[in-house]
Amino acid sequence: MGAPRTIAIAGAGIAGLTLALALAKFGVRVVVLERNPTISEVGAGLQISPNARKSLDRLGLSQAIAQKSFVPEGIDVFPDGRTSPLQTLTLGDAIATRFGAPYAVMHRADLVDILYASARRFANIDIVFSVPEFTVRPEGSGVSVELAEPDGKTRRMRAFAFVGADGVRSITRTHVLGGPQAQYSGKVAWRALVAPDAVDGAINLARTTLLLNPRFHLVVYPLPHRNAVNLALFTQESKNNLAVLDQRAPRIRAGNNHRVTQLLAAVGESWTPWVLSSVHTSPWHHGPIGLVGDAAHAMLPFQAQGAAMAIEDAAVLAPLLAAAPDANHAFTRFTALRLQRVTRVQTVSRQNGKIFHMGFPLATARNAVMRLQGPRGHFRRLDWLYGYDPAASP
Ligand SMILES: Cc1cc2nc3c(=O)[nH]c(=O)nc-3n(C[C@H](O)[C@H](O)[C@H](O)COP(=O)(O)OP(=O)(O)OC[C@H]3O[C@@H](n4cnc5c(N)ncnc54)[C@H](O)[C@@H]3O)c2cc1C
Repeated sequence: MGAPRTIAIAGAGIAGLTLALALAKFGVRVVVLERNPTISEVGAGLQISPNARKSLDRLGLSQAIAQKSFVPEGIDVFPDGRTSPLQTLTLGDAIATRFGAPYAVMHRADLVDILYASARRFANIDIVFSVPEFTVRPEGSGVSVELAEPDGKTRRMRAFAFVGADGVRSITRTHVLGGPQAQYSGKVAWRALVAPDAVDGAINLARTTLLLNPRFHLVVYPLPHRNAVNLALFTQESKNNLAVLDQRAPRIRAGNNHRVTQLLAAVGESWTPWVLSSVHTSPWHHGPIGLVGDAAHAMLPFQAQGAAMAIEDAAVLAPLLAAAPDANHAFTRFTALRLQRVTRVQTVSRQNGKIFHMGFPLATARNAVMRLQGPRGHFRRLDWLYGYDPAASP
């Protein structure tokens, strides 16, 4: 038997760490290059839908995630002006029974910590922090990688493949593969965590809450393990109005919506704004150098699927990179298996952004459809999304 294959990955985020774990299980040697000095996750809450959870469970993370996550019993949807939910979309046990895994919410940092702790247990995963830059060149059927190490030394290695999991502003995509920059979506996310007491009476703490308005929408869910409630508010901001990013609070008017007023007051000036961009690049690879996660296909978070797609990517790509005769072959097959599905998720996410922000009269039609579809309408509508299992697909 020859030496195990080495795969180099740029980025120790959700995509990079999940892929490292999935590869390590096949005995592949993995070197992860991370720009930051430590594992650091910005942002707050993350919804983990059943399609992603199935892959995480297969990596042996089921128990660790269950201990740090919460399963909301449903999603209360409040179109603007309503004092009671128009619809409560069922989650809880019913979604787990139907799709084979729960729909959970958790703090992003907890998921990344779980992935990192698991990766550290593998002798064949090497995570190099504080890598300011790297160069990658095709060499033979593989790649040569050169990176600056924190002590100033240059490390060179040969690898079977190089995977850019370096996020929405991926250097692998733009500099190494000559691909496009991320496109600003016209939307900004404002994120905050507050104490549960601060939102008492405004939301049901056993559920996720979705508040719709023509100018913004707000997603709120509890993170009991952090004794916190996560708020993500989404506004439309033109490109020449991005000075709003220097603010600590969005400029929105709650009108006489007392629920929104209370939620905004709970956060005050403690919002963290985040520009939302999407990535549409083709192809996702060139020879033995490829992309996964946001680096390949960042999307709007309005179906809560960006991290889920990164996790699915890892589950699909790992066995291909472990077994294919060359990396180009693995990435070609990966694209064939993933492109259509990821593009569909990007489209649905974009459409949700429009649906959530509908004004009169379209909002009236939207609300009627939502009421008609019932509390389990999303089960049928999203069967293709939540029912998917990379391990069970051809
Ligand atoms: C407000 C909001 C809410 C969201 N909610 C959800 C949700 O509920 N569910 C869901 O599934 N998704 C959600 N998403 C999307 C999700 O956050 C992303 O899709 C996911 O984090 C992408 O993971 P990634 O590993 O591809 O990229 P990232 O998380 O960006 O990780 C990239 C990593 O690469 C490193 N890196 C960057 N450049 C370099 C370099 N040059 N060299 C080395 N390392 C580098 C970074 O430091 C980082 O560690 C949400 C996004 C937003 C903005």
